[in-house]
Amino acid sequence: MNITYVSTRDKSNTATASEAILQGLAKDGGLYVPTEVPRLDVPLQTLAGMDYRQIAYEVMKLYLTDYTPEELKGCINAAYDAKFDVPEIASLREADGAYYLELFHGKTIAFKDMALSILPHLMITAARKNHITDDIVILTATSGDTGKAALAGFADVEGTRIIVFYPKDGVSDIQKRQMVTQTGDNTFVVGIDGNFDEAQTGVKKMFNDAALNERIHEAGFRFSSANSINIGRLVPQIVYYVASYARLLSNGVIRDGEEINVTVPTGNFGNILAAYYAKEMGLPVHKLICASNENKVLYDFFSTGTYDRNRDFVLTSSPSMDILISSNLERLIYRVCGDDDGKNLALMTALSTGGKYEITDEMKKGLADFYGNFATEEETAAEIRRLYEKAGYVIDTHTAVASAVYGKYRAQTGDDAVTVIASTASPYKFTRSVMQAIGRDDAAKSDMELTDDLHAITGVTIPPAIEEIRQAPVRHKTTCAVDEMESVVRDFLGIS
Ligand SMILES: *Cc1c(COP(=O)(O)O)cnc(C)c1O
Repeated sequence: MNITYVSTRDKSNTATASEAILQGLAKDGGLYVPTEVPRLDVPLQTLAGMDYRQIAYEVMKLYLTDYTPEELKGCINAAYDAKFDVPEIASLREADGAYYLELFHGKTIAFKDMALSILPHLMITAARKNHITDDIVILTATSGDTGKAALAGFADVEGTRIIVFYPKDGVSDIQKRQMVTQTGDNTFVVGIDGNFDEAQTGVKKMFNDAALNERIHEAGFRFSSANSINIGRLVPQIVYYVASYARLLSNGVIRDGEEINVTVPTGNFGNILAAYYAKEMGLPVHKLICASNENKVLYDFFSTGTYDRNRDFVLTSSPSMDILISSNLERLIYRVCGDDDGKNLALMTALSTGGKYEITDEMKKGLADFYGNFATEEETAAEIRRLYEKAGYVIDTHTAVASAVYGKYRAQTGDDAVTVIASTASPYKFTRSVMQAIGRDDAAKSDMELTDDLHAITGVTIPPAIEEIRQAPVRHKTTCAVDEMESVVRDFLGIS
């Protein structure tokens, strides 16, 4: 079966998988969605006997139908190799009755590596297939983790450039160091005087600016996006939910067909949307538990049916979730309004003009698979301490938000089904917050010194990604105001 992708804002804008991957965002500002979600065509028992790459192929072949089997396998093999420091690629760890799906064993120790290790390969393959000769310019706004993962994925990939904007004061010390030390002649990292939403809005504006696009095309470039709106990000993320189910099955934790719950610490709504697609494909999933930090727009949305971004933006200890506009939610909205592009466009227009929209009762019924809640800063820290003291397992702040929300879900519902919690970052990426939570912070020490302390206390190996940036020189010093983003891009590309 061939899958076609359509824009959520105008269904007459269609694309093949490879075209959608190249474009990122549709021309009308909408997101590409498959006209139908394919069903898994291999029995769960068979998947249980496969390794990560084999499962990746079985899932991704259903979505990327214009890639040949050889092309797709080539991309998968290039991505999921020894870059990951565990053979399972994504490993499961049981602690206090829940299963933590560790998605941080790649190059930059956060879950974005799961998709961004493969995206450059999917994109270069797509360019070849579509006879594109322009260099691809990846334009990305990051709340911390996407930036580094995209930089690591695209660095020195021939035929590509990558430009990353991050909120200058909205990422952790270690996140910032990871980005500004990035090597590769085709990389460019810029700190902006603004928050993540402003960075993301600025990037979207450039994507939609016809004159700018024309100008860069003349110079031999074309924009594409590595943000989680790209279906080339979304599809690889479905894989690890299927793989975790397969592992639970092969380890005898669950029976064939038994439903599990999935809990996801959520920001831009990409990771949990992948879990939703996995469920729609036939993976036995009961609830999709959407965990927010104090920027609890999604919790309010799931409780009331009103999405309202008009509120103060809170800087939390889980910065990759400090987001007020969860872009990928649009794909779910499109779905629950019955694939109605007109209705979706009206809601998204309301969001961009007035900052809010309300869905109908009929649409609310489509959200029954989801449970939303949030964790405060205190609850997040308490969860890190609790799990460490009870199970000797150290989790990062984002995972802790999810873990705390799962605790609330269980207390409220009594549902004790096997539950997978997406563990989205290594505790070494947010060392100070983690040390504060377990009562071992020392304000006089640098983050790097605390890294050694965390290692001494927990015995967890310090990931190579952290060792590497200790000595690496700073290569990117550019900063700019929000309204200077375009001129920074023009300068980097050498166009007037
Ligand atoms: C990006 C990120 C998230 C949020 O994921 P979304 O797909 O944006 O919802 C959560 N935790 C960490 C560590 C992240 O990097």
